[in-house]
Amino acid sequence: MSNFNSETVLSVHHWTDRLFSFTTTRDKSFRFKNGQFAMIGLEVDGRPLMRAYSMVSADYDETLEFLSIKVPDGPLTSRLQYIKVDDQILVGRKSVGTLLQDSLLPAKHLYLLGTGTGLAPFMSVIKDPDAYERYEKIILVHGCRDVSELAYADFITNDWPNNEFFGDQIREKLLYYPTVTREAFRNQGRITDLITSGKLFSDLGLPPANLDDDRFMLCGSPQFLTDMREIFENMKCIEGSHTTQGHFVIEKAFVEK
Ligand SMILES: Cc1cc2nc3c(=O)[nH]c(=O)nc-3n(C[C@H](O)[C@H](O)[C@H](O)COP(=O)(O)OP(=O)(O)OC[C@H]3O[C@@H](n4cnc5c(N)ncnc54)[C@H](O)[C@@H]3O)c2cc1C
Repeated sequence: MSNFNSETVLSVHHWTDRLFSFTTTRDKSFRFKNGQFAMIGLEVDGRPLMRAYSMVSADYDETLEFLSIKVPDGPLTSRLQYIKVDDQILVGRKSVGTLLQDSLLPAKHLYLLGTGTGLAPFMSVIKDPDAYERYEKIILVHGCRDVSELAYADFITNDWPNNEFFGDQIREKLLYYPTVTREAFRNQGRITDLITSGKLFSDLGLPPANLDDDRFMLCGSPQFLTDMREIFENMKCIEGSHTTQGHFVIEKAFVEK
């Protein structure tokens, strides 16, 4: 049996010239936990060309959704950005990842901090009913350069809070804080600066970060993760894992080569 399922592209949406998302069919045998990633790709010259991608869709969705960067000379995304409805995508049978609810100690607030395509796994987490059972507030913070890169902003703000099954809980518990660094917007600045200055918390009407109340899931650029680790070290936070629960968990949004 192959290590990959071949899935059919159902829709493609281009957010900007650097960012797109697409949905595919989902093999019934493909299981994952919200927040995890899988290897996906294309067959190139008769061989699979695969890269790690977080699932945007929730574990209960019948289709799969992915959010993708377009790297002009990237081996995969220089091709993947041209996919069309009815094309075939390879999806690895295995899903993995560290952004799991069970790796965090119980608390009141779950902060989901993502930069760029680091939003992807958190789209899955904000659709997870279990997360709303565990926390009083779920705060999704998405940092980008430009407003046009705030993918799914309309879904998060307008569609999801009106979902017929989960709408009540979403309206009560989900807070969305998009922020950009390169143009005028209602929230501006890097997530790290907004945390160290305390502005993020005062804007949200929540207490400053503290170990009793707050848990953090992070997914972003290598520099963002390095800077956040330093903040967590100063706060004496413990990193959670599959074996030990902690105050935060981290996943890379990509690897610098
Ligand atoms: C755990 C994990 C999860 C990932 N999830 C996603 C995801 O959901 N969506 C996604 O688009 N990518 C994701 N990536 C990155 C992805 O695996 C590929 O690197 C990306 O698709 C580009 O592939 P490529 O072959 O075109 O270029 P690559 O050779 O893989 O990358 C070339 C360079 O492009 C830059 N780059 C790559 N990916 C990104 C990115 N996402 N944002 C900004 N710069 C980038 C880096 O500088 C990298 O060195 C993930 C990576 C990891 C490790």
